Amino acid sequence: MSGGTDLLRVAELFGPTLQGEGPSTGRHAVFVRLSGCNLSCSWCDTPYTWDWSRFDRSAESQVMPAEDVGAWVAGIPAELVVITGGEPLLQHRPLGVLLARLTASGRRVEIETNGTVPPPRAFPAEIVYNVSPKLGSSGVPRARRLRPAALRDFRDTGRAVFKFVVADEQDLAELCALERDCDLSPVWVMPEGITRDDVLAGLSFLADHAVARGWNLACRLHTLLWGDTRGR
Ligand code: SF4
Repeated sequence: MSGGTDLLRVAELFGPTLQGEGPSTGRHAVFVRLSGCNLSCSWCDTPYTWDWSRFDRSAESQVMPAEDVGAWVAGIPAELVVITGGEPLLQHRPLGVLLARLTASGRRVEIETNGTVPPPRAFPAEIVYNVSPKLGSSGVPRARRLRPAALRDFRDTGRAVFKFVVADEQDLAELCALERDCDLSPVWVMPEGITRDDVLAGLSFLADHAVARGWNLACRLHTLLWGDTRGR
């Protein structure tokens, strides 16, 4: 029987599908999306995980034992498991139970995080972090969205990549300063947008900046393929 600390609040489980963002773009993957976030980005593409003024929490999330989530994942034949949200590290204790099961079974696990919660020391060493700190276009006050000490902790794991949604020139300038001040590497940039046209326009805007600054450029493959359809 699962103990109370092993309960996860889950927004959705889906897959197999394709990872749409970051270094693993295009990889066959299964997704675990957890509920709850400590930020409130204006362009958030998953507000149903945290914005309870617009969405019904009881309808949009369910409480599940971590073991049950692991059993569901075990039935999906995808080597890569993406843990996302919301902000999944807000549930780091029950998440650790799930991660232990997944890594023991040989799955590769990536955690997508906004970088405000430091990487828990108790997590398995194999976990890869896709850290996505939020820039000014998110509309979130800087002191809430950027925690330099936590970002350096992620950097020091040696298993983190830093992935930024860049919407405009102000975001570019803020990213340059943050990259320098926190010595972040590798850096990936990707456009903001939940439509194919917005993503393609953003990629055009970012491409030359990425080349000039030594950054990697990521698209939103799932948006190009399926728009803002949930569960893809
Ligand atoms: Fe949405 Fe991510 Fe921002 Fe949370 S951190 S509000 S999930 S974009």
